[in-house]
Amino acid sequence: MAMEAEVARTIVYRAAAAYGHEGSETSDEVRRLAAMSKLYASEASKRAADNAVQIHGGYGFMEDYPVARYWRDVKVNEIGEGTSEVQRMLIARLLGA
Ligand SMILES: Cc1cc2nc3c(=O)[nH]c(=O)nc-3n(C[C@H](O)[C@H](O)[C@H](O)COP(=O)(O)OP(=O)(O)OC[C@H]3O[C@@H](n4cnc5c(N)ncnc54)[C@H](O)[C@@H]3O)c2cc1C
Repeated sequence: MAMEAEVARTIVYRAAAAYGHEGSETSDEVRRLAAMSKLYASEASKRAADNAVQIHGGYGFMEDYPVARYWRDVKVNEIGEGTSEVQRMLIARLLGA
C-alpha cells in the first residue's frame, strides 16, 4: 500500500512537471501522463482502501470505524471526472493504438 502510494505520487508529480514544462494541457505528452496519473492514483487508492477494509474484517464494513467511509470516498475516483475505462481508452489512443 505504501509502495503504491509512492508510485502514484511520483507519476502525479511527473505529469505536473510535464505540464509545467510544456505549459499546455493539450499536448499529447501531458494528456497521456495526466490520464495515467488519474487512472493509477484512483485504482491504487481503491486497492489500499479495499485492503484496509479486509484487514479490519467485519468492522471494516461497519460505520463504527472510518475505514468503510474511506472505501466509498476513493471508489468514486474510478467513476467521476473520466471513468477508469475512459482513461484506458484515452491512453491507448495516445499510444497510437
Ligand atoms: C459523487 C459524484 C459526483 C459527481 N459530480 C459531478 C459533477 O460535479 N459534474 C459533472 O458533470 N458530473 C458529475 N458526476 C458524474 C460523473 O462525471 C459521471 O458519473 C461519470 O462521467 C460517468 O458517467 P455515467 O455515470 O453516465 O456512466 P456511463 O457513461 O453510463 O458509464 C457506465 C460504465 O460504462 C463504462 N463505459 C461507458 N462507455 C464506455 C466505452 N465506450 N467503453 C468502455 N466502457 C465504457 C464507464 O466507464 C462506466 O464504468 C458525478 C458523479 C458522482 C458519482
